[in-house]
Amino acid sequence: MERHGKIAIIGAGYVGASICYALMLKMLAQEIVLIDSNEQKSQGEAMDIVHGIPYMGNSRVYAGTYKDCQDCDVIIITAGRNRRPGQLRTDLVEENTVILHQISMEIKKYYNGGVILVVSNPVDIMTYKMEQWMELPEGMVFGTGCILDTSRLVRQIAEYVKLSIDNIQATIIGEHGARQCPIWSRVTVANIPIDEYCKTFGIEWNDLIKEEILAKVQAMGAEIIKRKERTHYGIATCVAYLIDAIVNDRKIVASVSSVLNGEYGIFDVALSVPSVIGAKGVEKHLMEKWNQNEIDFMINCSQQMKEFISI
Ligand code: NAD
Repeated sequence: MERHGKIAIIGAGYVGASICYALMLKMLAQEIVLIDSNEQKSQGEAMDIVHGIPYMGNSRVYAGTYKDCQDCDVIIITAGRNRRPGQLRTDLVEENTVILHQISMEIKKYYNGGVILVVSNPVDIMTYKMEQWMELPEGMVFGTGCILDTSRLVRQIAEYVKLSIDNIQATIIGEHGARQCPIWSRVTVANIPIDEYCKTFGIEWNDLIKEEILAKVQAMGAEIIKRKERTHYGIATCVAYLIDAIVNDRKIVASVSSVLNGEYGIFDVALSVPSVIGAKGVEKHLMEKWNQNEIDFMINCSQQMKEFISI
């Protein structure tokens, strides 16, 4: 696949600008173009971001138009409305469907390759719709999904067992929202199943503790929004990690959202499962052996999500 070292970010709000900043600091693109219906905003963000010390990032960052989607290795979509305190991500479906549909039509005029990474919420539904609209090969459109939730879960478990986060392997599957579930049967601490680890070290580990950890993870986004009205740094570093995997074809495994085609008996809905990510986007879904409760949860989640897709 031909590489151009160019990335487009549609939506230069808090999330788009933070992603641009993270990509520049990590030197993941030679060119980053910011596209926003508010041109003053994309121009201002681009001007601000390029004024750093050159050796801490030397990407050419500029405000552009949809024509600049040509020759991009990745097009990241962050445009759309954010949830207000007390709102669910799914409350944004109608408004953001209209915005993202219009954006997909603009991208299609100039698209000549590259992965489409959806960040706008509700990210699973937007990913599903974007895949339908873009008509690209499987995996080329995917969404950040539960990567941020998974990162929050890892941190909560690390704090609970009092080890550094590098020692924790854990995944959240399902919706980036209320319908999500950690794969508790597969969580390991320093490669030891967590039940065994906690037993060995006399750490209490039971369903109540799991519920408390999950409740904290699920409330995290709303807690941040209550205090500062939005979240953007956490998702920006998650996106930088995914972009690194795409542009350097790293074949990492992360829980991101893409359309399922029969995995666990689920069809025609975008949800997060552990996936291999490389130059072609989501290249493979890992088919872990989950327990029956986890499979039932996922099937139930897919049925509920299908109701939102039809909106
Ligand atoms: P924001 O309001 O700061 O920015 C949104 C930007 O989109 C604005 O600059 C606006 O001008 C632009 N925009 C609106 N309509 C457009 C259009 N038709 N074409 C081009 N640009 C358009 O919001 P934000 O805080 O940056 O959040 C953006 C999105 O990211 C929201 O949907 C939010 O819920 C989502 N988000 C997702 C995650 C995740 O984990 N997936 C995390 C945080 C935020």
